[in-house]
Amino acid sequence: MNLESELSIARSAVEKACQLCAAAQKGLVPQEKHDKADKSPVTVADYGAQAVIFDAIFKQFPNDKAVGEEDSGDLNKPENKALLQKIVEYVVSVTPDLDESKILSIIDRGNYEGGTAERFWTLDPIDGTKGFLRGEQYAVALALIENGEVILGVLGCPNLPVNPENPDGEKGCIQYAIKGKGAFQYALSSPSNVTNISTDDVADPALASFCESVESGHTSHDRSSVITKQLGTTATPVRIDSQCKYAAVARGQASIYLRLPTRPGYQEKIWDHAAGHIILQEAGGKISDTNGAPLDFSQGRTLCNNLGVVATSAKVHDATIKAVIASA
Ligand code: AMP
Ligand code: MG
Repeated sequence: MNLESELSIARSAVEKACQLCAAAQKGLVPQEKHDKADKSPVTVADYGAQAVIFDAIFKQFPNDKAVGEEDSGDLNKPENKALLQKIVEYVVSVTPDLDESKILSIIDRGNYEGGTAERFWTLDPIDGTKGFLRGEQYAVALALIENGEVILGVLGCPNLPVNPENPDGEKGCIQYAIKGKGAFQYALSSPSNVTNISTDDVADPALASFCESVESGHTSHDRSSVITKQLGTTATPVRIDSQCKYAAVARGQASIYLRLPTRPGYQEKIWDHAAGHIILQEAGGKISDTNGAPLDFSQGRTLCNNLGVVATSAKVHDATIKAVIASA
């Protein structure tokens, strides 16, 4: 299957959205943030990035479907008029042919239910909104799913150092992958300078480095310290928001990403994993849930057949899963 034209549209759409998000993060004021019904935060940049990316995708592929994290419901309420105006301003600055009504309707192209009936895109316009609000890491995560399988992913990480060995150097990179074709990274400042990425070579889990969410509500920090002890490692996990954790494992900066359920009944969302999943898989990694089962993207908007996530380099996956199961 040739997905080069999908990749090219997805890359430039994510680049544009990263530009919008970086500008918004710099000047963010409290009026540009809103709490959704589930109390999770959303900002003008989440909505803006969703509009910019869906506009680019549907101009090129009008018959495709999409599962997006955001919808325009709250934006139609009179009390959110100022928020909407700001979104329009940001979107028009990178996509001048859009206006308020087009922006509202394009955001709602993300209402598809997912499944296996048709190919569809899935988007988290800002994954790690809490990190974004803290001025830290976040990711723009776009993926294409067909027959329940992720076949393409693009991950924009505007604050991630381009070179992990130079954490104070240039920030802002994009990773991408097409199924069967490897994983790649480039600096946001230099899209034509693409390099191949791969997971690290560490075979002894005692020497592996870990990463996990900053938010203790999104993963159990207590359980991860039991697991790391069990594996014999003394290093403390590096805490990073968003799918930048997948990006870190994909380029060999860390060996293990643990996402351990904090409350019964929570179902992971497909947009929180699809892009990171294909990139890490193509970089040589292995991803499963906490029972060792593959992530099942065929079930709709959530990974309802899975429990948590264990994403690692291939070499340490078996040992990690053993320790994860023992800690249950
Ligand atoms: P992270 O930046 O890795 O902490 O992940 C951010 C994502 O966590 C958000 O996009 C949410 O969809 C997701 N999230 C929200 N509540 C939970 C929860 N209880 N368990 C796991 N993930 C969650
Ligand atoms: Mg998210």
